[in-house]
Amino acid sequence: MTQQNHLTRMVFCFAIVETCRGYLLVAGIAFGILLGLAMGIRFWIDSIAQEKLRRSGIAEIDKMDGRQFEHYLGLLFHSQGYKTTVTRAAGDYGADLILEQNGRKVAVQAKRYSKNVGIDAVQQIVGALAHYGANAAWVVTNRDFTDAAYKLAASNGVRLINREALIEMIQRMNPAAKPNPKQVRAQFPQQKLQCDRCGSQMVVRKSTKGEFYGCSSFPKCRNTKAV
Ligand SMILES: [Zn+2]
Repeated sequence: MTQQNHLTRMVFCFAIVETCRGYLLVAGIAFGILLGLAMGIRFWIDSIAQEKLRRSGIAEIDKMDGRQFEHYLGLLFHSQGYKTTVTRAAGDYGADLILEQNGRKVAVQAKRYSKNVGIDAVQQIVGALAHYGANAAWVVTNRDFTDAAYKLAASNGVRLINREALIEMIQRMNPAAKPNPKQVRAQFPQQKLQCDRCGSQMVVRKSTKGEFYGCSSFPKCRNTKAV
């Protein structure tokens, strides 16, 4: 009797375990399918975003130095119908570019940065307005602006074009008309900067505060310069 009982109980348990296994299997498969679907959708969305970024050439723009960025923006605004002048060669009065269209003159400051652009850039471009007889002032960067810069720009009517806005501007343009950042980099090779203390070459280095030029003879020479 007890033997029989034991056997029934075992069969019963076995049945429960098998049923549970079946449910678990179904639940596992369903979960797997959902997870795969979610990952697939995520991957799809990411790859669209990646492709957009790649097409904007922003990675190439990040590799530019200040002068290359100015020339790149010059070409970019030129293909938007502006007559553009890159001013740096002629002396910098706070504007890197002057854009002209239909009698309207825009003074532009270009900031190829590795950190957010601060209030100085806005002050400089406001100061440049009168000097260039410009009607509008813009600051363009491959990064973003500090809160203080946004506030000062708002009260002075300065247009700030940050990374996101720049990417969007590039993407809206006709692919045939927009400049190729790689070509711009090749056309305006980075200037070799010499250390004024030891004559070695200065190289771009990164710190927590952003990029700077450091002497390649470091640690023998500790000379640095702002980028
Ligand atoms: Zn040096």
